[in-house]
Amino acid sequence: MTSIDTLALYADWDHGDDNAVVAPIYQTANFSAATAGEFLERSSGSRPTRFYTRDGNPTTARAAQVVAALEGGEAALLLASGVAAMSTAILTLVKSGDHVICQDHVYAGTQAFLTTVMRDFGVEVTFVDQRYPEAFESAIAPRTRLIVLETPCHPVMRITDLRAVAAIARKHGAMTIVDNTTASPVNQRPLEMGIDLVMHSATKSLGGHSDLLAGALAGSTELIDRIWKRSTMLGGIMSPHDAWLLLRGMRTIALRVQRHNENGMRLARTLESHPAIECVHYPGLQSHPQHGLAANQMHGFGGVMGLQIRGGEDAAERFIRALRRFRRAPSIGAVESLAIHPYAMWRNTLSAQELERRGITPGLVRLSLGIDAAEDIVSDVTAALTSRSEYASSGER
Ligand SMILES: *Cc1c(COP(=O)(O)O)cnc(C)c1O
Repeated sequence: MTSIDTLALYADWDHGDDNAVVAPIYQTANFSAATAGEFLERSSGSRPTRFYTRDGNPTTARAAQVVAALEGGEAALLLASGVAAMSTAILTLVKSGDHVICQDHVYAGTQAFLTTVMRDFGVEVTFVDQRYPEAFESAIAPRTRLIVLETPCHPVMRITDLRAVAAIARKHGAMTIVDNTTASPVNQRPLEMGIDLVMHSATKSLGGHSDLLAGALAGSTELIDRIWKRSTMLGGIMSPHDAWLLLRGMRTIALRVQRHNENGMRLARTLESHPAIECVHYPGLQSHPQHGLAANQMHGFGGVMGLQIRGGEDAAERFIRALRRFRRAPSIGAVESLAIHPYAMWRNTLSAQELERRGITPGLVRLSLGIDAAEDIVSDVTAALTSRSEYASSGER
């Protein structure tokens, strides 16, 4: 198998229709034809790329080809955001009266879509604890069509056993979709483990530069064609310009994720024994309760982690304020280092019970490390923890 580093550079080269080294941006809504016959030919068949850009576009098709190669899928489809990718997939695979099983730690947007839109359309949804594959099997019902997974799931980095759940789904005739955003295809390739469909917020490590919103799906040609058909009705497609940005971002994904992995291990190990830290949620640490499973299905552990700061909400807040290079911003998997305080963000929208169920304690901080030098990250974080405890003891700020 060609390495992922190489696929990211060359997987789309048979698309080249001129000698430009970099893919051109086909910034056009439509394509012309000379005759009625040619017009008909351009518009028919699956996934035309030179008819009307909602159906397809040469730049978008090239970026999709790279995503498919990175995930080891036959085909991929690009959409306007990660949420568009997840919702378009679910709206293709499930209909009124069907049953969906979803893991209980899952991206908040996925949960909201299932519990509001899908329930409004008469789809039954059961949430289960993803640490136990048997919980998925117990939840299987006669109308179960789809199992929705995400691993690792930030901010507390729970892991789902992809091979085990894929086998259960196959046995019961259900499809599986995995949100692979946090892992990235460099660290985890669910299709190789028997999963049917991989979804990405390509806003994160696929794009990697915090400059676009994008979503992706990868899987068999048959499945992606079905979802493509529905995407032309739902309309949440990716623009050619965003596809070009995504393509440029993906060329370096292997290098970027490699650095995220190194920075993640280095910082997590440093903080594990730090007196200001109660616990580091990072799947690469032996102390992570599911480290064995993570090591079994991942090639690296990335740059996202949850830190339980001693001293609760105020201490977490002071820590983030004391960071000098990390920006306080949502998103993960970027070139820059980012930090958020999930409790402060979610306290007003989630119930106390819901916060607790998701492991969002007052002292939890989520870090997404960038490609900065590891020693700079470690010194910024440890300095912020030190000034945090000084403030804590002097009662300032
Ligand atoms: C950001 C994110 C999403 C949503 O993607 P958008 O591109 O923001 O729509 C879905 N899943 C995970 C794990 C994410 O981090």
